[in-house]
Amino acid sequence: MCMGKVVVSCPKCKSKIQITRPDSGHPFWSTNKPEKDEGITDIVEQSVECKNQTCASKFLIYWFDK
Ligand SMILES: [Zn+2]
Repeated sequence: MCMGKVVVSCPKCKSKIQITRPDSGHPFWSTNKPEKDEGITDIVEQSVECKNQTCASKFLIYWFDK
């Protein structure tokens, strides 16, 4: 298993989309923006486009460190 890639589900059509981790400093990810009161301030936003042609939904993945 490659550590640099994760598979996420499109929030709309649930299609699986493989995305690449932006860097090793942000090992955790979420489709919901982490809250500042969780002590998470360093967040990288990555825009992802659904590969399903009939969906083509765009959404954000939030990468962060704890
Ligand atoms: Zn989709």
